[in-house]
Parts: sequence; C-alpha cells; structure tokens
Amino acid sequence: MRYTSPMHRLLLHNAQVLTPLTAWPIGWVLTEGRRIRLMGQGIPPVFGAGYVSQAIDARGLTLAPGFIDVHVHGAVGHEVMDADPAGLRAMARFFAQHGVTAFLPTTWTATGGAILNALRVVAECLGPTADGATILGAHIEGPYLNVSKCGAQDPRLIRPADPAEAQPILDTGLVRLLALAPEVVGNGWLIDACVQRGITVSAAHTAATYDDMVVAVARGLRQTTHTFNAMTPLGHREPGVVGAALALPDLTCELIADNIHVHPAAMRVLVQAKGVERVILISDAIRGAGMPDGEYEIDTRVVHVRDGAVRLPDGTLAGSILTLDQALRNVMAATGLALDQAWPMASLNAARAIGVAASKGSLEIGKDADLVLLDGDLSVRLTIAEGRVVYAAEGEP
Ligand SMILES: [Zn+2]
Repeated sequence: MRYTSPMHRLLLHNAQVLTPLTAWPIGWVLTEGRRIRLMGQGIPPVFGAGYVSQAIDARGLTLAPGFIDVHVHGAVGHEVMDADPAGLRAMARFFAQHGVTAFLPTTWTATGGAILNALRVVAECLGPTADGATILGAHIEGPYLNVSKCGAQDPRLIRPADPAEAQPILDTGLVRLLALAPEVVGNGWLIDACVQRGITVSAAHTAATYDDMVVAVARGLRQTTHTFNAMTPLGHREPGVVGAALALPDLTCELIADNIHVHPAAMRVLVQAKGVERVILISDAIRGAGMPDGEYEIDTRVVHVRDGAVRLPDGTLAGSILTLDQALRNVMAATGLALDQAWPMASLNAARAIGVAASKGSLEIGKDADLVLLDGDLSVRLTIAEGRVVYAAEGEP
C-alpha cells in the first residue's frame, strides 16, 4: 500500500514519547491517514469500537520522529546516479529499516546530462515508497565545487556553474538542497538563484576563507556539507570554513557521525558550539551501505569497503556505509547527550533545513505520522512513514 486510506488509524501507546518540548515518560499517539490526529500523556482515552484500526503496545520503547537523511547517495548495491527507479526504491526500503522516514536522494559530480537523468528518476519515485521512506526531492552535491577539496568527487568533472547547465537542473523543481563551493568565481549567481527559489545552499568541497564564508552567508548560504570533511580547517588566524561553521549562527552543520570521517571529540566540539538545534546527522552513504565488505563502483572508479570505511585506492574517504540510527548512537556517545536531547539532530533539524518542518521532523498534532519506535539500544523496532507501517523488526506487529 503506497498511500494510506484517509481513515486508517494507528494507536501507539505505553511508549516514552519525544515531543518538541519534553519527553513524556508514558504517552500515546493516534494517527489518522497520513497524519498525527491526537497525542497525549499517560494512558489513551477509550475510543469507540472500530475507531482504531490497529493498536500497538509500545511498552519499554521510545517513540521518536522518523529520521530524515538529507545527504545520501546510495545503499544496498544501488546509487542515485544509477538512475534506476527500482534501485531508488530499494534504498528507500533499506533506510526505513534504520528508522528513516524521509530522505533526499543525493547526486554527485557528473555531466549535466547524467544529473538530469538521475533527477528524472527521482521525479518518478517522488513521494511515499511502498515499505520504505518517502522521497522529498533531491540534493545536488557537485559538480560546482573546488577541485582542490574534491575528496572522492571526480576532479575531472568539477567546474564552475554554467547557467545553461544549472538552470535546467533547478527548473526540475525537485532540488531542495544544493551544495557548492562559494569561493569559486562563477558560482555566486547560483547561490542567488537558489535562494530566490527557496532552495537551501550548503558550502561543500570548499577552500573558502572565513571571509568568503561571511560573504556567502550574507548572500543566503545557510549550511555546511559534511562539516570538517573536504573544507578548510579551523586555524586561529584563518578560521576557514570550519571556523565559519562553528562561529556563524546562521549556519547549520551536516555531520557524518561514523567515528571515521570525524573524531568523536570534534563531534563534541561541533555540538557544543552549535547546540543540538544546529547539527544535522547525515549518512553520506554510498552503494556499499547494507552490503558486505568488498569492492564497489562509484561513477567510473572503484572503492573498497572495509571495517566500516569506504576508500578510493589512494586512501581518500569516499562516502560512508553509515545508517542514521548508528549516527545517532555515535553522536550520543561522543557528546554524552541523552536521546531526549539528541533526537532533533536526526530529524527536526533536517526538516527545518530543507523547509519541510511544517509537516515533518517532530511529533505534533497535524504533522505527518512519520514515527520510529526505538528500544534501549536505539535499535529500530518499527518505522511508520506517513501513517503506514513500512518496517517492523521481528516480533513487532
Ligand atoms: Zn561530499
């Protein structure tokens, strides 16, 4: 079932409920169709016979907003750039197993034609997925980057933004987030064009100075892509992009919390500087996520997945095999924050960053019923996307 019948009602009760203001030790949530209809503390009222379609006793579990991954390239053998609808849906199902209820398929450095091809498939799969996470639109990462900070983005195809190529990408109406290097002459117009259309702009693969970042933020740039990775580091005389990320309150910071891309102490620095409301956990996952160690393709090259890391033959990190439930575990371990404080980093902040917080990202009456039930180890027991159960762990209803 891809869309929920408008009168389908799920009652989740006896759970700890993470609301935007506080955690209710015991509470309940009633969904109706795709939305949260009612919620409350304690024991739910006795609804009339047949009113509730399914009641789920969540004793001992925590009900959190479904996770939102705004930066993910692939999983389970597939990648957004494959431009394969079946692959995109397989990714959506895998993410739901890890608590993700919505995501932005993320392209990377390629020809304009290849990016448009991938976007055509995103358009085809846009919205809810059967037994999977909802596709909210697209994230364009590259090719408008700085070749000196290419990381695993193909340096041969990195180039300044040519309006003839970039306008049609924006014209698809699918782009919610676009990552570029703001210091590259020729990319400035694209910041303006995105801001004008309500597309969030993030600084990525960038050699910008602190001053470059101040100018970009004044122009409307609001995010930093995989903060610390592929950007100018913090120096005490030249604070660089990392310094701007930490110091400028307008910037929200993506973080790959896999303990490989970023040391746990640096994660802690970031959360302490930004507060939990300005950090977005992302996976930046690639084809090898959810797959055994081995060799996988990225564009025309090969990467090796070993011991949780994805690397090009020269050792450069090339995305991750992280999942957002694990990212949340890692950032909690790094910061000492409890789940009732840390959860916005996995959902609400991402929703705000891409302009969907009116309907997603937190447990509130009237918002989409995007829910995840977690046990004490943050293992995902049940995932509900827009009112439909899209994943149930063994033994769950
Ligand atoms: Zn990247």
